Amino acid sequence: MKTLHWPVRMHIASVGVSKFCFLFSLAFCGLLLLLIPALQPQARQLDLPQPRPQVRPAPEDLLAPGGSEHSEETDSAGWGRPIQTKGITHEIHSPKRGTDSKKGVLPGGKGGRVSGSRPRDLLELKDIFIAVKTTRKYHKSRLELLIQTWVSRAKEQTYIFTDGEDKELRMRTGVNIINTNCSAAHTRQALCCKMSVEYDKFIESQKKWFCHVDDDNYVILPSLLQLLSTYHHSQDVYLGRPSLDHPIEAAERVKSDGSVSVKFWFATGGAGFCISRGLALKMSPWASLGNFISTAEKIRLPDDCTIGYIIEALLEVMLTHTHLFHSHLESLQKLPTDTVLEQVTLSFGGFENRRNVVSIVGGFSLSEDPTRFKTVHCLLYPDTHWCPKLQHHPRT
Ligand code: UDP
Ligand code: MN
Repeated sequence: MKTLHWPVRMHIASVGVSKFCFLFSLAFCGLLLLLIPALQPQARQLDLPQPRPQVRPAPEDLLAPGGSEHSEETDSAGWGRPIQTKGITHEIHSPKRGTDSKKGVLPGGKGGRVSGSRPRDLLELKDIFIAVKTTRKYHKSRLELLIQTWVSRAKEQTYIFTDGEDKELRMRTGVNIINTNCSAAHTRQALCCKMSVEYDKFIESQKKWFCHVDDDNYVILPSLLQLLSTYHHSQDVYLGRPSLDHPIEAAERVKSDGSVSVKFWFATGGAGFCISRGLALKMSPWASLGNFISTAEKIRLPDDCTIGYIIEALLEVMLTHTHLFHSHLESLQKLPTDTVLEQVTLSFGGFENRRNVVSIVGGFSLSEDPTRFKTVHCLLYPDTHWCPKLQHHPRT
């Protein structure tokens, strides 16, 4: 074999080195190209929608101190018999024993509670849309009391949904009164008509939370604000109190032809309930612009049940059960006196037979304040001009 002289060998070696350099720089450039996207992760993530945290609520936080686990209106024996919901009778089948769905079973609700280190929603009262359902005949006997008490502390965000004009009331009190032009009858259609208008007005309002109450509810605004602040309005939150101790069952006539049934929980309208904006927007196909009425007609259930149906059965978001909301279907006297002001809603009822009101002592006697709403109000806001002045006892 012929040996090469050193300049020739050097030439070959230098060719090898530059070839190596060339290949090396090619590989380096390729690597750089690959690394460029990885070097900008934050910029990319900002463009993507962030997933919402879904945190289970702590059950003990949802129960009012001293609150019972089951409502008074427990229908433990009701198998497929008609039950009364908000004065309307409809066919409800109890779920089969032992096959209770995992949804919304007490104790403890399911939903998007923000807990521990997670950021809280910096919520103000003005972020909450409060809808009060009433009817013309109750303007004097019920609505005036609400306007005099809690509504006066939340005038801007409270909307009264009624069925008849009352310019005098609007002018005198300055509250938002919306004439829905719905029928004044206490029928499913009329009540669903009002709920439909409530929903549309809330969506229009841009507020963060939708809360519905009846005209026999007192809303303890600081408690409501505190409760909603533990969630975020962009999460799927449906908060309220069921009037039954089991989910109701109805024929599925929206997603199918009615041959199958569906079980779901609903928050009773008479105790009030709240829905986050995030969830309310998802309800739109079945709730907005008159769709609520047709959804209710399909399943043939009242307004509050229809809300539960849309949320639990169609959207598969569970009701967060809370004992802080109260209707007169329960025995209100049983609420421990020292917890009354911590509740979110109160109610009154049953004047005909037996007074069903909260037991609370304050500046008004039972005959002066049969609903106890004035007494509650003066304990919450003692500076109110019509509240009895606190007695100052000189020290001895
Ligand atoms: N209501 C209504 N139209 C009526 C009767 C009642 O909109 O014809 C409203 C009423 O103002 C209240 C709710 O429906 O906000 C429930 O009515 P009520 O308290 O009289 O009945 P219950 O609580 O027993 O269902
Ligand atoms: Mn009522």
